[in-house]
Amino acid sequence: MADRHDLVIIGGGPGGYAAALYGASAGLDVAMIENQKVGGTCLHVGCIPAKSLLETAAVRRALASAAEYGFTIDEPALDFGVSQDRNQGVIDKLHKGLSSLLGNRKIRVVNGTGRLLGPGRVGVSGGEDGDLELEGDAVVLAAGSVPRTIPGFEVDGQVVLTSDELVKARDLPTSAVVIGGGAIGCEFASMMADLGTEVTILEALPKILPGLDTDVAKLVERSFKKRGITIHTGVEVKGHEPGGAGTTVQFGDDQSIEVERVVVSVGRRPLSDALALDGTGVEVDERGFVKVDENCRTTLEGVWAVGDLVPTAQLAHVAFAEAIVVIKDILGEDPTPVDYTRVPWCIYCHPEVAFAGLSEDAAKEAGHDVVTVKHRFGGNGRALIIGEADGLVKVIAAKDADGRAGQILGVHMVGPWVTEQLGQGYLAVNWEATVDEVAQFIQPHPSLSENFGEAVMALTGRGLHG
Ligand SMILES: Cc1cc2nc3c(=O)[nH]c(=O)nc-3n(C[C@H](O)[C@H](O)[C@H](O)COP(=O)(O)OP(=O)(O)OC[C@H]3O[C@@H](n4cnc5c(N)ncnc54)[C@H](O)[C@@H]3O)c2cc1C
Repeated sequence: MADRHDLVIIGGGPGGYAAALYGASAGLDVAMIENQKVGGTCLHVGCIPAKSLLETAAVRRALASAAEYGFTIDEPALDFGVSQDRNQGVIDKLHKGLSSLLGNRKIRVVNGTGRLLGPGRVGVSGGEDGDLELEGDAVVLAAGSVPRTIPGFEVDGQVVLTSDELVKARDLPTSAVVIGGGAIGCEFASMMADLGTEVTILEALPKILPGLDTDVAKLVERSFKKRGITIHTGVEVKGHEPGGAGTTVQFGDDQSIEVERVVVSVGRRPLSDALALDGTGVEVDERGFVKVDENCRTTLEGVWAVGDLVPTAQLAHVAFAEAIVVIKDILGEDPTPVDYTRVPWCIYCHPEVAFAGLSEDAAKEAGHDVVTVKHRFGGNGRALIIGEADGLVKVIAAKDADGRAGQILGVHMVGPWVTEQLGQGYLAVNWEATVDEVAQFIQPHPSLSENFGEAVMALTGRGLHG
């Protein structure tokens, strides 16, 4: 006989475990099926290891500027294995914490691969918990995604890697090609360049980091080039010929480059296949994403889907937000759907990028008459103290009938620790706050966040320092 629960979740990544934790805290009896380790891509091969590696790069940059602060140190040597052990320590700690949280909330974690058998019925097989069937009044699909690959670039973990292999690598190459100049590709390129690898980015689109405000994108590109990263945009990768200590990658019009390693970073594929959705009534689009409505309901009653499995922004915090919407929907609480045009985006390359809301071009395309301001970190005391003054905050506001700046439509930042500064901008955009309202807020001094305050104040027509 099948075990019955209020909620059965397939997948224990951010989407799945957020649904489990939030559901259990609302009193639901929850079972969650995971075939690897709870925490998913984000904890084990995504956000956390990638940011840990970027922190190693940040330490290297700090050491490079130590002499400016009066320190005399020998040329630092990196034992990347030690760095990776530290990163694994962070992952292990978080994994232990998450496992305890799930246990404390009495969530049943089932080890195995889950598949949908029909409305409210889930089969589990191939794991430590054996073959079993679970029944749930509600079922949430949260199977996540895996890296996409490209034909001709078989992943061997030695010469050709995806993010899965790179975050676990025990050493770094002297040279590397990163195929794909999106957020993940640029984070890896930035990290490797700071740690001494000669990096080339090959991007098929006309620019790296598509979707960024143009002023922000330009600044990142300039910084990358200054740090020796070569960028080829608008080029197609044709194939590669292994030989010697690496391989020769062919791209564009008869161009080629010899490198030790290739990092393929061309997006992620939803893992819908293993869920055996054919014939269940849960529809999947042509790219394999599970189709959902604004409350993440699938086309089969009683079944929801969240996270990288659905065609929305592939971000851990979006998966969290969708999971909360789902639980509220299950509880009949009429949730406010996620507004995907206003979610926070953070890219942790150097310099960091963070934004919420419309870019200047997107605002104009959407028919807004806009007023914009750019405030650079060059005049910010804290930025100069920490030696990271390259960057800016750009605020895009709607132009009111009197010509003055009104509602804040977008906040775009590039520079030091902007991923930690976006909060105010995110709140302003989502609160639909006006420039006059936000300009009232006091910013601590000296702080990097003063730059946001100054930018907004400038939009009122009166500024302090700019
Ligand atoms: C290198 C890298 C860096 C990233 N950095 C960031 C970042 O800085 N910020 C950010 O917000 N996002 C980042 N992301 C994206 C983020 O990791 C994903 O958006 C997030 O993990 C999606 O969560 P999820 O729960 O939908 O899927 P996943 O995290 O992929 O979790 C799905 C889980 O389900 C399990 N599973 C799959 N199928 C089954 C099945 N049939 N039965 C049982 N279990 C199953 C898998 O083993 C996995 O544990 C990054 C991703 C990568 C690769």
